[in-house]
Amino acid sequence: MRMPSLKAVQSFLKSTTARLAMSYLVIIMLMSIGFSVVFYSVSARELGPHGPHPVLDQSQSNSQTDLDMRPRIERDPAVKAYLKQREAQGKRELLERLIYLNIIALAAGSALSYYLARRTLRPIEENMDAQAQFVSDASHELRTPLTALQTTNEVALRKPKITENEARNLLAKNVAEVTKLQALTTALLKLARSDGSDTRHVPVSLQNAASEAMNKFISAAQNKDIVIEDTVPDISVNGDTTSLAQTIAILLDNAIKYSPENSTILLSGSKNGKTGSISIQDHGQGIASKDLPHIFDRFYRADQSRTQNTSGEVDGYGIGLSLAKKLVHQMNGEIIVTSAEGKGSTFTIRMPLAS
Ligand code: ADP
Repeated sequence: MRMPSLKAVQSFLKSTTARLAMSYLVIIMLMSIGFSVVFYSVSARELGPHGPHPVLDQSQSNSQTDLDMRPRIERDPAVKAYLKQREAQGKRELLERLIYLNIIALAAGSALSYYLARRTLRPIEENMDAQAQFVSDASHELRTPLTALQTTNEVALRKPKITENEARNLLAKNVAEVTKLQALTTALLKLARSDGSDTRHVPVSLQNAASEAMNKFISAAQNKDIVIEDTVPDISVNGDTTSLAQTIAILLDNAIKYSPENSTILLSGSKNGKTGSISIQDHGQGIASKDLPHIFDRFYRADQSRTQNTSGEVDGYGIGLSLAKKLVHQMNGEIIVTSAEGKGSTFTIRMPLAS
């Protein structure tokens, strides 16, 4: 077995786990040593001249004769020496046992402290890892369109001459790209910041939330000759008006993005027990079963060759569904999906009914 290097040991000792484990161990040892000191002093007193007599008190007798006998016997030098020796031996044995006990406490306490420190720190570490991953993913996602933007502009600048038409085209592309980047950064900020503390839990009409979301996508649907059928009944659920409309908007946006021209999208709703649901059903490309478990992951996009818009550009950043899921969870709801490749997908938001 290879010995760990000094540097590795030093960095481990410096690590938070070691420091926290050390604090736990100090507490355990303080308790163990404190208990030992108290136990020793009480027991030592019992072993001493004022404690129960090793010979006389064995008889359990409290007769006057026994009590009278005790001082006389103890004055005998042989008994005195014997008692002293017994006392010293008893104290030594007791001390030895307590020392062993504390060594065992030190060994067991070290293992227990390390285990407790790991348990305490694991969720914090996971959180920090997730944050680091988020920052790295977000930076990567932002860098790609920024690089594309930089390249197109540099290519245009290198041209000796540029017509007004070309310049306008370039500017239009730049503006479109910047608009998408703005949408991405807004979604990223929402995803990173929203901890649900500002989520309200009030009665919200599914019908109103659906109409509010639909209004934003009328022209996008018209551009692809997509008909949106809205049959959502007037169901009142417990949630946050803005979050619910935003979630429906994300799902509707996807339904339009991943549907072919001249297709239909159906918005429907229903009540079941204590739950109110709204479904967004499209007849688009559907989602492959291998992608289904991942589509709610941040930045996950199904096979890029399939997620292309009509101009062949890959649209979206894989952030919408993770934001939708987060918003729905913050409202104590859930979001489920069923999909068949080539046939379409149905996303359903299930919310607690307003009481
Ligand atoms: P984006 O749409 O920006 O890529 P999302 O998080 O909204 O990101 O969606 C993640 C992935 O899930 C998409 O890239 C797409 O592959 C798939 N997806 C989502 N909604 C649909 C849908 N209605 N039909 C087909 N695929 C979908």
